This record gives sequence, C-alpha cells and structure tokens, in this order.
Amino acid sequence: MWAAEEGVPLKPMWEALDGNSIGGLLIDVFAADMTAASSTCGTCGAVRPVAELVVYRRAPGTVVRCRTCGSVLMVFVQAHGVTCVDLAGLASLSQAGPVLPQERDTRRALCPNERTGECGRNEYAE
Ligand SMILES: [Zn+2]
Repeated sequence: MWAAEEGVPLKPMWEALDGNSIGGLLIDVFAADMTAASSTCGTCGAVRPVAELVVYRRAPGTVVRCRTCGSVLMVFVQAHGVTCVDLAGLASLSQAGPVLPQERDTRRALCPNERTGECGRNEYAE
C-alpha cells in the first residue's frame, strides 16, 4: 500500500488505529478497562465497543472517531502530566460498572481548559 521512497516516511502522518491502542490511556482516565465499553455516536447513533472505534494518535493529543460517520467522539490531550478528555461527540459511553454517573454527562468536556491547551487540573482524580 505504501511505497517506500527515499526520504518519505513509511508511516502516514495520520495512521488509523483501533480502540485497543488506547486501552492504557482509558485506564489512566477512567480507572477501568473501557475497551469493551459500549459507545454511542452522538452524530449518527452507531453503537459499538470502544475497541472498534477509529483512533488517530497525534501529539499532543489522541482523537477517537466514529467508524460509521467519522465524527470525533473523544479527544485526549496530555499536557503537564495530566490527561484531559473531551467526550462531547459521544451520546453515551457505558460498561458493566458505573463509570459516568449519567449518560448526559458525556456531553461536556471533562477538562474545562482543554481549548487553551492548559490542563492545570485533573478533573477525574476523584
Ligand atoms: Zn457516527
């Protein structure tokens, strides 16, 4: 698929991975293995395990997209040793255990300073 030419990196800048690649990141944020959790796309309503979502890892953030419509579901930004997560694109995210108190709560960014890139607080430490 990718022709190896001199001076051209073998890997494309936007290499698509799947949700399993962010298993460790999800454990950092949710303190639980979320790869088997059920996600619902807020745009098209597609429901699938997190492990099957499309993941793009690009410093300093990680973008998780819907495999059906391509909408951004989750954004993880690591700054100052803190991982901030924006779940605004999700209609819901659920697994067996209680991770988020209410489905509606996924419609807000957990890190209020995400847009400025300044993540001074860890919103999910408790
Ligand atoms: Zn979708």
